[in-house]
Amino acid sequence: MECVFCKIINNEIKSQKVYEDDDVIAILDINPINKGHVLVIPKKHYETIFDIDDEVLKKTITVVKKVAIALKRMGAEGVNIVQNNGKAAEQHVFHIHFHVVPRYFNDGKKIDTGNRIKYKDDKEMQEYAEKIRLFLL
Ligand code: ZN
Repeated sequence: MECVFCKIINNEIKSQKVYEDDDVIAILDINPINKGHVLVIPKKHYETIFDIDDEVLKKTITVVKKVAIALKRMGAEGVNIVQNNGKAAEQHVFHIHFHVVPRYFNDGKKIDTGNRIKYKDDKEMQEYAEKIRLFLL
């Protein structure tokens, strides 16, 4: 299977995890809209909202909420939750995932166009992951 998220879940590709349980993981997006941008992903492979099991979806969205609250506690002034289904909707990885994006007044970002940034280095990314884990309730 060539699914990048399945490889991350199986630890074949390195990621900065902020949360993990039996059913769901949350990792930092390597090209965030703002630093602290998290992807929440069910461990079982479903492509889209159209085929995901309801119970798995409930577990996944519960983690989305946890992460959103952590970002708010860290100082985000708003949080976008984005989930794309199908090429026409700009889905790029066909393993369902939710973007949880911290937002700030005057951050100049547009959720639709992206304008993605990069972390300075692995260390900075690791520090963000650790901070989010600390703020998770
Ligand atoms: Zn997958």
